[in-house]
Amino acid sequence: MEKTLFQKIADKEIPAAIVYEDELCVAFRDIAPAAPVHVLLIPRKPIPSIAAATAEDAELLAHLMLKVGDIARAEGIEASGFRTVLNTGDDGGQTVPHLHIHIIGGRSLQWPPG
Ligand code: AMP
Repeated sequence: MEKTLFQKIADKEIPAAIVYEDELCVAFRDIAPAAPVHVLLIPRKPIPSIAAATAEDAELLAHLMLKVGDIARAEGIEASGFRTVLNTGDDGGQTVPHLHIHIIGGRSLQWPPG
């Protein structure tokens, strides 16, 4: 199966500003940041979306959730607050079919999104 864009980033075939990586996940700066801090956190495993995750992925998903706080702390936005977003499918605005968690902060964000 053809690699997703984000698999290519995780495998260092496409350059990205990586801020964190371990054996299960990679975090890198969004190429079109929506705020002063905009990091994408992905599993190395190419799960297409959160809706495609299964019970087999439970530990991996827990790992990703715990990394969100670590990354927010490292980016200096834990105290000011931030948003985590998982876009899913067309109506959700998902453009890359590889599960990714947006970590967005560094400014006051509006709710609900447009
Ligand atoms: P989504 O719309 O939720 O699928 O988010 C995909 C995100 O990937 C968008 O915010 C894009 O700006 C970002 N993106 C696309 N290509 C790259 C890239 N080569 N490096 C970093 N971020 C990217």
